[in-house]
Order: sequence, then structure tokens, then C-alpha cells
Amino acid sequence: MNRGQTEQWSDWRWQFSNRIKGLDALSEFLQLTYSEKEIYRDVIALYRYAVTPYYLSLIDRSDPNDPIRKQCIPDPREIRFSLPGSEEDPLAERAHMPVPGLIHRYPDRVLAMVTGTCAAYCRHCNRKRTWINSEAGSTSDALYRMVDYVAGSPNVREVIVSGGDPLTMPLRLLDKFLEAFREIPHVEVLRIGTRIPVVLPMRITDDLCQMLAKYRPLWINTHFNHPREITPESTEACERLLKVGIPLSNQTVLLKGVNDSLEVIRDLCLAL
Ligand code: SF4
Repeated sequence: MNRGQTEQWSDWRWQFSNRIKGLDALSEFLQLTYSEKEIYRDVIALYRYAVTPYYLSLIDRSDPNDPIRKQCIPDPREIRFSLPGSEEDPLAERAHMPVPGLIHRYPDRVLAMVTGTCAAYCRHCNRKRTWINSEAGSTSDALYRMVDYVAGSPNVREVIVSGGDPLTMPLRLLDKFLEAFREIPHVEVLRIGTRIPVVLPMRITDDLCQMLAKYRPLWINTHFNHPREITPESTEACERLLKVGIPLSNQTVLLKGVNDSLEVIRDLCLAL
């Protein structure tokens, strides 16, 4: 399905529910032989994949080394590890979790992993271990245990809301969660890390922006890795957030074959 082939293209719910996933869709996309299919079956059994039609449409299908493709299409090398045991938790985050899902590594900030769901699963993600479970988000109980911990930790002045992708959460639940943090006097800054403007920019609706604007000072950290991800749709998504007073910063992951050249990084930074 390509842009222009459906009136629903700009509807984020349609994009989300029509994500490309499963072995048959992958096999069709990559034109896999039977034996290749078996290899990919093992990859996606371990590390789920899903891609929005929008993000898939950015791929140049004639280029096997396309930088968008490398970020979202599974690759057998994902399960060929050189350091046994290091792949599941490369940043040793579990060792710094006082309550499930909340990482407290530095004295003045915490990172809350609020969901295991993403609109598209980046093949380079360092939290792939969270994909192994279902796409179900965190329960309110789990979220409020994080809030309770922060409320009892006066050193914490910044909460980074991460995942998974927090902007895949039901709006109401995310609203309540942010509200609970905003009510804690020592929490000065909220920051959300999200790849939604890149892979599902139509999700940045007015409703979502208005809800987020209630909790300023709130920063959004986007995750653009390549200049070709900067499209009219992703630009509009970022402008919507800026217009309600939410500053944006960007985190780029240095990726071999995607953006590991001076030209690509320069073009990306200038375009951002
Ligand atoms: S959006 Fe973030 S959490 Fe989700 S797969 Fe990509 S890098 Fe990982």
C-alpha cells in the first residue's frame, strides 16, 4: 500500500493498525526463498518487527543498502552475537531499577520505561529485550509504582519518559501519568523520548499537543537518524509540537551504513 492509494493514509490509527508485520509480509517485501524464509523466521521469533506503511514508503526499494530499510527491516545478523550474554541488556539497566521499568542511574534523573510498544521497531534498538513480551503497555499499577518512587526521591529533578514509545500509549493514560509527575514538587522537568514524529508523524494531532502542553516545561527528544526521514509529514509533526511551546531536541544513533559519514550527519543536522 502506497501513499495516495488510500484516503486513510493521514489517519494515524489506520497507519498503526495496518503496520506491516509477520513473516509473509516480510517474505513478499524481500522476495525471500524458502530457505531464507526459515532464517528470517528465527529472527522475528526473537525480535518482533512492525513498520508503518508511511515509514515503509520512505524506502528506496531498488537499493538493498537503503538507510531507511536498514533501520526497520529485520536482518539475520541481529541474532549473530559476538559477545554472548551482552545482547539482552547492553547498558546494564536492570541493575539500576528500584522498581520495575524505572531506571535510576544518575542521582538527579530517572528514566521511566512506560510501554514496550513502538509504532515501528528499530533494528538498532538497545532495548530489544522488551519486545520479547507482548505489545501490551504497562498497567496503571506499574506506572503508579514509578510515580511513588519518584515522589519519595527528593534528589530527582528530571523524569525522562521513554519505552518503547510513550506516544503509542492511550492518551488518557499518558495524561494521568504526566499529571502525577507534574504534581511532585521536586520534579522540575519532564522529557519524552519518542520516534513517533519519524515513523508515525500523523499521530502528532492537535489533541495530543494540547494534552502535552499542559505539562510544560516538557521537552520532546526526537530520534531522526537520516535526512531522508525529514519529510513534509515529519516536519509538520515537529512544527505542531513547537507551536504549543514544546521545545524539541534530537538524539541520533550513529549507525553503520546509515549515517556514519560526515556528509549524512551534516545534512541531517542542518535539516533538523
Ligand atoms: S522507537 Fe525507540 S524504543 Fe522503539 S524500537 Fe525504536 S529505538 Fe527502540
